[in-house]
Amino acid sequence: MQIQNGRWEQRWHPLREEWVVVSAHRQDRPWIGETVVTEGTEAPIYAADCYLCPGNERSSGERNPHYSSTFVFNNDHPCVALEAPKSPPSPIGIYQCRPATGIARVVCYSPLHNLTLAEMDPKAAEDVIATWQREYTELGNRDEIHHVLIFENKGESVGVSNPHPHGQIYATNFVFKTIANEARACHQYHQKTGRMLFHDILESEINDGRRIIYENETAIAFIPYFGRYAYEVFVAPKKSHPDVSDLSDNEVVDFTDALQRILIKFDNLWQMSFPYVMPLHQAPTDGGDYRSFHFHIEFHPPLRKPNLLKYLAGPEIGGGNFLSDTVPEEKAAELRELPYPHYKSKSK
Ligand SMILES: [Zn+2]
Ligand SMILES: [Zn+2]
Repeated sequence: MQIQNGRWEQRWHPLREEWVVVSAHRQDRPWIGETVVTEGTEAPIYAADCYLCPGNERSSGERNPHYSSTFVFNNDHPCVALEAPKSPPSPIGIYQCRPATGIARVVCYSPLHNLTLAEMDPKAAEDVIATWQREYTELGNRDEIHHVLIFENKGESVGVSNPHPHGQIYATNFVFKTIANEARACHQYHQKTGRMLFHDILESEINDGRRIIYENETAIAFIPYFGRYAYEVFVAPKKSHPDVSDLSDNEVVDFTDALQRILIKFDNLWQMSFPYVMPLHQAPTDGGDYRSFHFHIEFHPPLRKPNLLKYLAGPEIGGGNFLSDTVPEEKAAELRELPYPHYKSKSK
């Protein structure tokens, strides 16, 4: 890949004590935000102008194969790449920078342009999780990769207008800050108490019970006591695993069940395709000791009500602390009481 004039580096923010990834060559990435579909409108099973549909040409000129289950390819407009300049220009003054390198991939969940993770057949959804397992292992085993961030942005409210269900992977030479914080908290808690922090969170949630939305034998879904967004659901295996690849086949089945229950409840909430940011929180792959880390998925849905966004404003952006306008116990009850079959399946 050729990098023209763009910036591709990390700059240290000395006040927030975190890195800012500068990936300033991406303004003209064409494959996202091109098609305009209103949230909730029905997409066809195939779209001739979709960069993700089987057999279609992408902006790189490559053609997608006629894939039949999940399909993974290297992002044509990555935010990080192994070809990033090894020594970005030195800043003037006290500032620090370093190269932002890595591998960015796209994971198409299925060949069908309109089949979301919520509506997939459970076996097909388990294939998505098996793909996450393979990608985490393959990318995480590379020396130059210190962290594998797998996530899905879904819906126009979070800036995605291509409805073809897909997630992304940023495998990077740095550990994203939220994960670094969680890993540190888990490690320190374990040092101090000899216990696993996430276990104690699960135990507190189970003992209270009001915020649990669903559980089966090995997986659980709940809005945590400390939830920041109205519908901030965590989905986790009950047993500790540092990453998704560590789940047994049986745990994958249970985890998929819990995940799809939540996704279906989200869609049923307002009878619309529910937008969210869904990151997998997994242990870094930088060689550190992460036995105290407990893999989980977090949903960060931007909507409080249909068409009403939770705006991050003064307190959140200006001050750095969340003001939550809703109570987790009430929101969890709301989700728990929703019917299970997907609302669209009734009409089928
Ligand atoms: Zn498509
Ligand atoms: Zn987390």
